[in-house]
Amino acid sequence: MTVFSDATVFLCVAIVLGLMVGSFLNVVIHRLPKMMEQQCQQECADLYGLVKPSGERFDLIAPRSRCPSCAQPITALQNIPVISYLVLGGKCAGCKARISPRYPCVEVLSGALAGYAAWRFGPTLAGVGAIVFVWAMIALTFIDLDTFYLPDDITLPLLWAGLLFNLGNVHISLQSAVVGAAAGYLALWSVFWLFKWVTGKEGMGYGDFKLLAAIGAWLGWQVLPLVILLSSLVGAVIGIALMVFARHGRETPIPFGPYLAIAGMIALFHGEAINRHYLNLF
Ligand SMILES: [Zn+2]
Repeated sequence: MTVFSDATVFLCVAIVLGLMVGSFLNVVIHRLPKMMEQQCQQECADLYGLVKPSGERFDLIAPRSRCPSCAQPITALQNIPVISYLVLGGKCAGCKARISPRYPCVEVLSGALAGYAAWRFGPTLAGVGAIVFVWAMIALTFIDLDTFYLPDDITLPLLWAGLLFNLGNVHISLQSAVVGAAAGYLALWSVFWLFKWVTGKEGMGYGDFKLLAAIGAWLGWQVLPLVILLSSLVGAVIGIALMVFARHGRETPIPFGPYLAIAGMIALFHGEAINRHYLNLF
């Protein structure tokens, strides 16, 4: 006789794994933009026959994580999600430099959202898919906040993964997923060109189109109006708040990716219910 149901085990595994993956997401958020930059330099050097930049290995695995202040390597014991941060009091064990609270925040977020996805969808393929989806949204949000980029290395595999998951009609029918991917890209692409044509400015980047395409591939074209509406709404509220409270200039660009990612997660968990509710109004 089992004491714990499958759903409970799945929930616990999702939370613990989520915390650990959160730790890895911190590495991705920090290093992926630098890796892209290095790759770009490498390609330029190849193209123009220049001397290549130093070939020290730098990827998601090597070199080991170290303190940015004193370069002391971070041991496995100091790398336990959240707990190590609390035990060390948010300071480096070597030089006592402050460690950004963003690291444990990303870990908690990753564990909590994975747990919520596991609880919401249960121990099913949809549950596994939802967990992968929220992890990607977390990484994209923070990379976009830091660099104003949504790397193809995440958005494109995410799009393909969404289509593959929906081969078995996991979240939505394959038909809705394929149309969702194309419509998601085209929707923001049209807004981009219309905005550029009217104002002469570029309001968002190509990464935003690919992210909405990926959301469409996972959740179907049916959620796209909701995602666009929600992301604009969240964007407007935060944008105005920043202007009022942080004296953010109107010209200071604000990345759109985080709003899309937040709207995408709301749509993942509650899109169907919101759509149903909304349609009932008419
Ligand atoms: Zn240190």
